[in-house]
Amino acid sequence: MITVFHPDELGHHVRTRLLGGRLVEAVETPGRLSALLEAARTCTSAIVEPKPADIAVIAEIHDGDYLKFLETGFAAWKERFPDSIELRPSLHPNAYMRRLPDDLLGRAGYYINDAASVLLEDTWTASLASAASALDATQRVLDGEVAAYALCRPPGHHAYRDMACGYCFLNNTGIAAALARRSIDRVTILDVDVHHGNGTQSIFYDRADIQTVSVHADPKTTFPFYAGYADERGAGAGEGYNLNLPVAANSGDEAYLGAVEQAIAATRAYSPDLVVLALGLDASEADPFACMRVTSDGFSRMGEMLGAIGRPTVIIQEGGYPSPILGENLIRFMEGFRSGAGA
Ligand SMILES: [Zn+2]
Repeated sequence: MITVFHPDELGHHVRTRLLGGRLVEAVETPGRLSALLEAARTCTSAIVEPKPADIAVIAEIHDGDYLKFLETGFAAWKERFPDSIELRPSLHPNAYMRRLPDDLLGRAGYYINDAASVLLEDTWTASLASAASALDATQRVLDGEVAAYALCRPPGHHAYRDMACGYCFLNNTGIAAALARRSIDRVTILDVDVHHGNGTQSIFYDRADIQTVSVHADPKTTFPFYAGYADERGAGAGEGYNLNLPVAANSGDEAYLGAVEQAIAATRAYSPDLVVLALGLDASEADPFACMRVTSDGFSRMGEMLGAIGRPTVIIQEGGYPSPILGENLIRFMEGFRSGAGA
């Protein structure tokens, strides 16, 4: 299996995050990508650069004005606030106020959901490179490779059609699925990140051609809080094609892998032509978010179970934050996946 990665993904260096009312050191950093890249060098056969992203595929998933905001918003912000080094809006629309205003401050709050999704000078470049890796890896699988790994950063699964959320700007798995759908009929996006893939769920909620399945920490106690519950099953034509499998916070291997087993059963029942795997490694017992207690052995078993689905698979990196075993968890997952896939 090869790794697809673009060096521009090492940009977008946000320095801080809000925790308990204070700005503390950020965790979604270029450093976490470096750790994953080093691991990928040992557990995949080669690291290759993607072709530039096809913006037309991205525009199938994201709103055009939102994309323009991501591309030009920071420059406009700098014009208005020349001393500012980041765009982090301080107000947002809510259930009572949903109008998209013309003013930059209003637009920033509209298009950015939370204080985690900070726009910097090179956020657009990094996000495009991340999407390019997802697209290139998907094309390789469509062209006949059994599996490919897109080492994507920024991550993507919290990004909505027109809203950045949870460190995510472009929904990489959604974009991958859109490309796949141009030539095949059925795609499953299977998400094992410890946080619910709320952006992905929202984008495909009314569609039957792209099944969305997410295993994650129960949103009653864990971000993204407002979505990810078991009773969210899809709507209209998509009813029954969205499956949420929340797991109680701080569970270990047995509970988390039990939910992954259910996710796999649902995937097999749907029988997709291609699986897009949203691989978060933040269910780890050592992850700084400390939501779950999955061990390195657990990631190995998870990889083996997912590989055994036996479908062409694009593995797209989502979360997973700095810890002494972040790289090891990727290596163990990939070893397991190859063993399960018989590759
Ligand atoms: Zn996550």
